[in-house]
Amino acid sequence: MKPDIKPNDIEREHTNLCSRRRFVGGMATGIIAASATPVLGQQGNSRQTLDQTAKQNPVTQYPRPPFRRQSQDWPGLAGKMTPRPDHGETSYEGNGRLAGRKALITGGDSGIGRAAAIAYAREGADVAINYLPAEEPDAIEVIQLIREAERKAVALPGDIRDENFCKQLVADAVRELGGLDILVNNAAKQHSVNSILDLTTEQFDATFKTNLYAMFWITKAALPHFTAGASIINTSSVQAYNPSENLLDYAQTKAAIVSFTKSLAKQLGEKGIRVNAVAPGPVWTPLQVSGGQPPSALESFGENTPMGRPGQPAELAAVYVTLASQESSYASGQVYGVSGGSGNP
Ligand code: NAD
Ligand code: MG
Repeated sequence: MKPDIKPNDIEREHTNLCSRRRFVGGMATGIIAASATPVLGQQGNSRQTLDQTAKQNPVTQYPRPPFRRQSQDWPGLAGKMTPRPDHGETSYEGNGRLAGRKALITGGDSGIGRAAAIAYAREGADVAINYLPAEEPDAIEVIQLIREAERKAVALPGDIRDENFCKQLVADAVRELGGLDILVNNAAKQHSVNSILDLTTEQFDATFKTNLYAMFWITKAALPHFTAGASIINTSSVQAYNPSENLLDYAQTKAAIVSFTKSLAKQLGEKGIRVNAVAPGPVWTPLQVSGGQPPSALESFGENTPMGRPGQPAELAAVYVTLASQESSYASGQVYGVSGGSGNP
């Protein structure tokens, strides 16, 4: 058994893991297919991570507040965050749980979507990721990691607030992957505004387009390509149940995602297509440092959870894998919380 690990031990552990792990190349399409820089080499010792499978104290497993005050222009890059988020780059180990599957993940460049993309590839799935063109530096790293897992990686940048792009996104993913079995509707817009009087129609519209309309458009386009055994996973939030006063528009969309998930699961149950949602608590991702939280709130981000720290994207990966896998064949219409000790359901 491993003793409790203090935050200072994290980098030493990371170095050991890097020297233990071996990665090999695969395939990729899209603009970034040409990139061949080893991702671990790029990221060096700034990454904070641990062997997730070793028994350890989750309270001290990852960085705790206070965090350095920081902000980025939206949509933000994981590569510019301090500390850098852990998406499981050096820790996630697959066991063929998604062998041969084909997955499309929106917001797959960073945060929770990146953690799912890495895990899916290491579990044997080919993976297409969507992201905004401004996020290319993050996306390059993910594509490289999927290739290192010897799976096909497809980069599909574009803005999902546009219905035609959403249709094209699914068509491109299906063509490049040769089908589709798993859809992760994960991209989102979150921008903190203290008063309804300052919440513009433009922001309200953008939040709803990104978080709800795109999920509707992409799911609708993907459905004709699904056969029994396919899985849809939507990223909701604890905000669905306990909405913050400064996230009036965002929280509504996260509640609607729960409803969409449960309703669609009833529609698709007899077809053998499962639909579930994940409701994370505070997670250390670009969403939060690019307007999702006021910079002052970031310093204590995650402090109010029972574990006293935010989650890292890597800590969500297993749930996305389980929900995509045939192992959870009877789970549909459910919402899975990952929130450090509090939150619903
Ligand atoms: P993230 O910033 O890493 O991911 C969000 C992604 O959304 C971006 O990478 C971007 O590619 C994508 N996106 C945003 N607008 C887009 C657009 N118009 N077109 C295409 N892509 C667009 O942050 P994250 O926290 O990993 O977010 C992933 C999901 O997790 C979101 O649904 C978010 O609501 C949810 N979530 C996050 C937290 C948290 O604390 N970080 C908590 C609960 C739920
Ligand atoms: Mg991103």
